[in-house]
Amino acid sequence: MQRNFKQELIGCFGFPVAENPTQAMVEPAFRALGLDWRYLTLEVQPEDLEAAVAGARAFGFRGFNCTIPHKVEVIRHLDGLGESAALIGAVNCVVVRDGQWIGENTDGKGFVTSFRELSDPVGQSLVILGAGGAARAIAVEMALAGASAITIVNRSIDRGRELTALLEEKVLPLYPELKIRFSPLTENFSVPDHADVLINATSIGLYPDVSALIPIDLSTLRSGMLVADVIPNPPRTRLVRAAEECGCRVIDGIGMLVSQGVKGIEYWTGQSPDPAIMRAALEAVFTSDS
Ligand code: NDP
Repeated sequence: MQRNFKQELIGCFGFPVAENPTQAMVEPAFRALGLDWRYLTLEVQPEDLEAAVAGARAFGFRGFNCTIPHKVEVIRHLDGLGESAALIGAVNCVVVRDGQWIGENTDGKGFVTSFRELSDPVGQSLVILGAGGAARAIAVEMALAGASAITIVNRSIDRGRELTALLEEKVLPLYPELKIRFSPLTENFSVPDHADVLINATSIGLYPDVSALIPIDLSTLRSGMLVADVIPNPPRTRLVRAAEECGCRVIDGIGMLVSQGVKGIEYWTGQSPDPAIMRAALEAVFTSDS
């Protein structure tokens, strides 16, 4: 009997990385697709990133995810970038295409997919809290998906203005109708009347600081508004619970995490995994942690 003992490899490069749960979500999806593939969670120090990428090429990896602190630095070690990764200026998913190592950004794409399960981004006015990597990816992809207005709200004014400048420079020429605004995140921030969608893309509410709530005036959340939170752990953040109490429709951070994982598996394998299997695997991890 002839058997193939060689498994296909995908990695996740990060530092720190031990608490990253992606492996627990991706490997059950590989198994359900009948693929003998492994997803390795690999601690890569910043000074070892170049060698790690060369190692991935040498071992014949089929691709890899990269997370903090490598999302920008990895670009110089790749052969090219997908459209949104080039606009965002950050890569979280590397794919091998015709022997070329191409950087993609699936964070924002994952958000758009989970958003579309509830609503159409076209014509929506968004208020995005945060201006870090997640906010950049979401703002760019939601603009490409047809949002009509984006207000960036951030604690650090410099970082907030940097993101609005990126949108003005790179996205506005493609979508001249897009309205772009900036507001500082101050105590008791009022969600503006024009907002159809409020997105928390800050790290407020992330485990272990689960009692933290973004400093907004909850009375300015309107019934029918869509509220999304990127925090996957715990998925039912204080914001998600408060929004539900106000009659808002909500998207939790597991939806985004699963959808970006689905996109990555499609890029690497050419097959579509079952998101329900991935969500159940993640929920099992987060429930066993709490
Ligand atoms: P960054 O460190 O790049 O950005 C963090 C953002 O949060 C900044 O805008 C920062 O504001 C803001 N922030 C942090 N603490 C506070 C605070 N106490 N008060 C006000 N603002 C604060 O992180 P990322 O953008 O990469 O990640 C943000 C979150 O998104 C993380 O929790 C991550 O887990 C989650 N995420 C979820 C994904 C998913 O698939 N569900 C995918 C990617 C990320 P300032 O600029 O003022 O410091």
